[in-house]
Amino acid sequence: MSDVDVDSRALEILQRVFGYESFRGDQHAIVDHVIAGGDALVLMPTGGGKSLCYQVPALARPGTGIVVSPLIALMQDQVDALTELGVRAEFLNSTQDWKVAREVEQAFLAGDLDLLYVAPERLLTDRCLNMLSEGRISLFAIDEAHCVSQWGHDFRPEYLGLSMLHERWPDVPRIALTATATAETRVEIAQRLSLDHAEHFVASFDRPNIRYRIVEKNDVRRQLIELIRTEHAGEAGVVYCLSRSRVEDTAEFLCSQGVNALHYHAGLSPAVRAQNQSRFLREDGIVMVATIAFGMGIDKPDVRFVAHIDLPKSVEGYYQETGRAGRDGLPATAWLAYGLQDVVQQRRMIDESPGDDAYRRRLGQQLDAMLGLCETVTCRRVRLLEYFGQHTGPCGNCDVCLDPPEAWDGTVAAQKVLSAVYRLWKERGQRYGAGHIIDILRGKSNERIKQSSHDQLSVFGIGADLSDQAWRGVLRQLLAQRLLAVDHDGFGTLMLTEDSRAVLKGERQLMLRRESEKAARSSTRVGTRSRAEAIVLPGEAQTRFEALRAWRGDVARSHGVPAYVIFHDATLREIALAEPASLDDLAHISGVGARKLEAYGEDILREVARGA
Ligand code: ADP
Ligand code: ZN
Repeated sequence: MSDVDVDSRALEILQRVFGYESFRGDQHAIVDHVIAGGDALVLMPTGGGKSLCYQVPALARPGTGIVVSPLIALMQDQVDALTELGVRAEFLNSTQDWKVAREVEQAFLAGDLDLLYVAPERLLTDRCLNMLSEGRISLFAIDEAHCVSQWGHDFRPEYLGLSMLHERWPDVPRIALTATATAETRVEIAQRLSLDHAEHFVASFDRPNIRYRIVEKNDVRRQLIELIRTEHAGEAGVVYCLSRSRVEDTAEFLCSQGVNALHYHAGLSPAVRAQNQSRFLREDGIVMVATIAFGMGIDKPDVRFVAHIDLPKSVEGYYQETGRAGRDGLPATAWLAYGLQDVVQQRRMIDESPGDDAYRRRLGQQLDAMLGLCETVTCRRVRLLEYFGQHTGPCGNCDVCLDPPEAWDGTVAAQKVLSAVYRLWKERGQRYGAGHIIDILRGKSNERIKQSSHDQLSVFGIGADLSDQAWRGVLRQLLAQRLLAVDHDGFGTLMLTEDSRAVLKGERQLMLRRESEKAARSSTRVGTRSRAEAIVLPGEAQTRFEALRAWRGDVARSHGVPAYVIFHDATLREIALAEPASLDDLAHISGVGARKLEAYGEDILREVARGA
């Protein structure tokens, strides 16, 4: 095949099968590289379009593309989506009975499959490997390749075994894909999967349609419900919490407030998890309250918001989780509420975590980077992308850009806090937390203060000029900057650090961050503006869109698949706006490939005509 043939063949498949007009970003280069037999390591953000990078080459090359994926619960949906496109796809995993599995194996051996999804533990069995040896393989795609990283929270030991694919099938190209992006993780993936000669394709990690917002936590339930009511009523979203009990409490609370919320964490039975996940994917407007166990591989395109009500442990995890919002490219929100208690709690968890010092140090660094993001007075996106080694200018679509926080000289305030902490240190072991220190500074004479005679301290009442909330902000930022630390005593006693001295002695000026007045008055004001602008279509188009959605819902239900498997919102919006009058018009809409045009074209034209 000449280069020109490869080029036009890939594009032809993209347009005919997937109904897309052109490749995005690096997709074309990646696809050409793999079609030509090269190995590739692909790093793209969630929603960047990784699937096409192996699906198109699998269709272009002779044989079956083997997709290794840890996401057993999602394989059925992935296969259904491909089947809707007219691609011959199947999967092999432990949820199948042996008769079905045998049929799939026969189809593979007969050369009747374009793509075969396999769970890694299944792939590595002798039976499976021997079967694969007897058929023809076009490529191996290793999805969620960061699962091979032992540092990450998605580590799967079976992934370590995948390096053998190269030894057994040296001539079959391998493409490893992930949305996890630090240079460190990338090196680790290449090493562990023996991708020595793979070309690395690192896409821009920017997700411009996601509006990043980080707010001060005060009454987090109220803040969350306000966010949902004012900006995302009736829309699909994910709320991430740190613990299982918090997941359950929060889901219950949201339900009591009339939100259609479900919960998900690793402590639930597999059946309940599968059912809740399936409802989230299939039904419109469900809010999933979950731990980070939820989400990898969930390719629901119309998640409109991702909210974190606890501080994530790393920027990497945070970016992956928030990336699940707005895969369809339409405006979406990433919202995080965080406060003093989060910092104290996480520092303590790190101290108490099992593992050696190097491990704890690493967790500490990850947390510091996350705190840096929270406390930044410059564009969130600039900070986020910097973390992944990419550079950009201020984005205009984050809370800092839209409502810049104020910087104020907090040196004296910090000195007051540090002096109080110093005085109390003598009495450590008494459970004097941050709240008590603030009470002392503000000169409150409550029971606790009287009992401890802390109203006799020289620092008592020296901070009456700032509010409770302001003091919490000061303490939080001192902790974030490691000018204060949490003792290992199990009581969470605050203590000075080596760096505190310079501040206490007045050798170091300290600029602190204060949320803008506007942002503080309403935690949601920043977002409301964009929603009306971007999501709602002009008059009649909106009516057509609703009608098309209703039609799509019926089709999806009768096929037993999630609605987006039939068509994405983005495609329906485009149809509603363009008002196609013929199949030919319709074929030009992005997301309408040959198979879907044939299967649904007439129905759609009828819906459009009826709305006119
Ligand atoms: P990822 O796996 O990287 O998270 P997906 O492969 O699910 O992303 O793709 C994200 C979305 O973008 C999907 O809805 C997909 O259909 C769409 N998409 C991908 N590539 C293109 C393209 N070249 N043109 C139009 N839409 C695309
Ligand atoms: Zn910005």
